[in-house]
Amino acid sequence: MSATTTSVRSVEVYRSLPRYVATRVLATRLPGLSATPTAPLRLSRGPGPTLPGPRWGRVRPRLSGICGSDLSTVNGTSSLYFSPLVSLPFTPGHEVVGDLLDDVDDLPAGTRVVLDPLLTCVPRGLDPCPACSAGARSRCDRITIGHLSPGLQTGFCKDTGGGWSDGLVAHRSQLHPVPDDLPDERAVLVEPLACAIHTALRAVPVDGDHVLVVGAGAVGLLTVLALRALTPAGRISVVAKHPLQKELARRWGATDVLEPRAALSSVRRATRALTVQPEQGSAYLLGGVDVSVDCAGSRAALDTALRSTRAGGRVVLSGMPPAGLDLSPVWFRELTVVGSYATGLERMADEQPRSSFELAMELARTAPLDDLTQSAYPLERWREALDHAGDAGRLGTVKVHFDLRGTT
Ligand SMILES: [Zn+2]
Repeated sequence: MSATTTSVRSVEVYRSLPRYVATRVLATRLPGLSATPTAPLRLSRGPGPTLPGPRWGRVRPRLSGICGSDLSTVNGTSSLYFSPLVSLPFTPGHEVVGDLLDDVDDLPAGTRVVLDPLLTCVPRGLDPCPACSAGARSRCDRITIGHLSPGLQTGFCKDTGGGWSDGLVAHRSQLHPVPDDLPDERAVLVEPLACAIHTALRAVPVDGDHVLVVGAGAVGLLTVLALRALTPAGRISVVAKHPLQKELARRWGATDVLEPRAALSSVRRATRALTVQPEQGSAYLLGGVDVSVDCAGSRAALDTALRSTRAGGRVVLSGMPPAGLDLSPVWFRELTVVGSYATGLERMADEQPRSSFELAMELARTAPLDDLTQSAYPLERWREALDHAGDAGRLGTVKVHFDLRGTT
């Protein structure tokens, strides 16, 4: 195994973006704000990350996705809560299919792999904590210690590199070999699909439950797919803004598609709930869906989820949550609010627990993922790529990725 790396290009976040700058950027340029000159991003060229220890290998990305959480990070709209969980400078990109360049344990150099980006106990050279031992690696507490710099995932840690580059390093426990018959364009969706599967199973709908999915970008659409494939959800209503999102939501299993502005009234009619209007703020339902899932991570989306769910119902946070929300419905309606972060070990009725990645790899072979309109950019056009990703829905795209095949 060699730690020598050829020159690697990478898009790098080199300092954190203070919130006041983000606010200014947001106020002055919408949409397509990701790659404004104020964003602390640059394309750099260097030797690439070195192998942190045994059982690590270099990976050359083929395709690398741009995720909503990446955009929130680079445009400064993510919560400062996450600031201790990253180390600068880092290269974003955690949705990766690539080629392994070194032999790592049972995986020979040349193996095509998908990355599980979680940087938990084992990659950090630590004995597994109780969460990691139980397979709930997304709940690991040790994401700032061990022989790696802080970083909750590859793509947020300065030592590993990230997907928006020609080279990163990964631990054996992060590598999933890709079957030969799974094309790169499907393989790059395995990580977001694994997250969507985790979300669908955190939603735990029981037979015939009415589920509301708010948001129909990649996360929302993949969640609809996972809900249909793996749960006994009944009616699935999807709040979608753009024509392609609406069409795909229907094709992938939505019972009905709702306009954002009409979502509450549509749920009211479908569930025979009552609408009440507070003196200030938006209306809410007495009654509503059994389970709702926020797949947008915006204040409006989560508010819709909270205000459309029946008393005793369940609300799942799949998007990175916004700050400053009115939690009155959680208290008054006795809602169960659950987070869904990354992936884990999934427990389905009457089955042995299986990892989200294993389920996603399987589903990716048969699911109609080719329907997803993906746009690809070479790394040097990173500004355009990020602007496109930030406005993907309106531009009729579901997913934007970097195509790193055939470049040096
Ligand atoms: Zn752990």
